Parts: sequence; structure tokens; C-alpha cells
Amino acid sequence: MKIQGGCRCGAVSYHATRDAEPAVYACHCLYCQAWSGSSFALHALLPEGAFTLEGPIEAYSVDSGHHRACAVCHTRIYNTTPAAPGMWVLRAGTLVQRAHLNPVAHIWVRHKQPWLALPSEAPTWDENPTPEAFAAALAPASAAQVAP
Ligand SMILES: [Zn+2]
Ligand SMILES: [Zn+2]
Repeated sequence: MKIQGGCRCGAVSYHATRDAEPAVYACHCLYCQAWSGSSFALHALLPEGAFTLEGPIEAYSVDSGHHRACAVCHTRIYNTTPAAPGMWVLRAGTLVQRAHLNPVAHIWVRHKQPWLALPSEAPTWDENPTPEAFAAALAPASAAQVAP
């Protein structure tokens, strides 16, 4: 898939620097619900440096995560986290091709909103999976890029 996208207002855009297939997953935790203002967050894991950003960027940190957002409309584009060293966690909804995304895993489903029915074939975890289990679930999409 083409790694290309941008923020809500159009001031910030990004495009791939190399071929990469994003590993897309949904996080239903309460932080992601509050942060997205929605029912869950859709994340795409990509190797660090998989794309370059253009436009006015605002950088900030929350807990141990470092975030990049559009300085005009404050759409969060990606973050780094100690939980996924060497990876960028892209907000998948900023991708141009977001209509074709299919999350391959769902985490923190203990906080999943009750009206939301998940596909039976997608692996789910009540909270965070172990890094090994998560890498295995995401491997078909990311071709082992998240393996240690
Ligand atoms: Zn913007
Ligand atoms: Zn979350």
C-alpha cells in the first residue's frame, strides 16, 4: 500500500521514503478513546523513517511517548513509544488509502464499546499482548518488521 497522507487541514502531508506495508491494529483502551474522541484508535506500525513529513509540525511528549502533530489543526500524525522500539505508530486515519485498511488485531478489548462487533477471525487481547504475541499477529502485514 502507498504510505501517503496528511492532517485534517492539509498543512501537513507525508509520503513514503521506502516500501513498507503497515501493520494496522485497533486499540480500544480508554486513553485512545479520549485521545481520538471516538470508540477506538486505528494505528499502523511502520519502521522508523518509513515516511517524511512536510509542513508545520508540533512535537510534544505525553508520559514516555513522543508525538508529532500538525501545528495548525493539531491532528496527531504519529508517535514513538518504548513499547515499540524502532517503530513509528501512525494514526491510520490520516492515510489517503484509509478506506482499504483492515485491522489485523484488536487490543484492550476489555474497554471495547459494547455495540461494536469485531470480526471473529481477528485476534483480540483484553489488555496489551506480549511483544512476541503481538509481533506474530502483525507479521502477515508487516513481514516480521516488528520482530525483535
Ligand atoms: Zn493540519
Ligand atoms: Zn490505546
